[in-house]
Amino acid sequence: MTLEERLDALYAKVKKTHCTKGCTKCCGPVPMMGVEAKRLGLKQNYTKWDKDFRCQFASEDGCSVYENRPFVCRVFGTDTTSPISCPINKHLPVPHTEDDIIALMKEYMNLIIEEDEMSTFDRDTDLYKAMQEYERKIGWKKDKPKPALAE
Ligand code: SF4
Ligand code: SF4
Repeated sequence: MTLEERLDALYAKVKKTHCTKGCTKCCGPVPMMGVEAKRLGLKQNYTKWDKDFRCQFASEDGCSVYENRPFVCRVFGTDTTSPISCPINKHLPVPHTEDDIIALMKEYMNLIIEEDEMSTFDRDTDLYKAMQEYERKIGWKKDKPKPALAE
C-alpha cells in the first residue's frame, strides 16, 4: 500500500463525531503530514490562522474542506477524557478509549516518520505558539474532568 492508501485506511479507523452542524469551535491551527497538506493545496504542513487563531478553512457553514480534513481534525472530539475531547462536549455516544487514541496517534506518527515530515511537529514555533493561544482562547484544559456522555 502507498503512504496515501495507508493514511486513508487510518482515517477509516477513526469514529465519526456527532458535531453540531456548522460548528468550528475546535478549529484552530492544525499540523499535518505533507500528503494531507498537498490534498488541501497548502504550501506548508499546517493550516494558517486568523487573528482569533481560527483555522483558514473554518466557515459559517463549518469546515470548507471537510472531505479532505487532516487526521488531527478527524480524531478531535472522538475521545471524552484526553486533551482532544470536544470543548463543547459534543461527542460520540460510544467514544474511542484512551488506548484507541494512543494506537491511532502512534500509527499516524509512524506515517509521519516514514514521510520524513517531522519538522512541522518539532520545529515550527509560530505554529505551536498559535496553537497554545488558541487552546487558551477556547478554554481547552488538559486536565478537565471527564464530561458526561451525550444522549
Ligand atoms: S468536535 Fe466539538 S467543537 Fe469540534 S466541531 Fe465538533 S462539536 Fe464543534
Ligand atoms: S481543516 Fe476543517 S476541520 Fe480542520 S481545523 Fe480547519 S476547518 Fe476545522
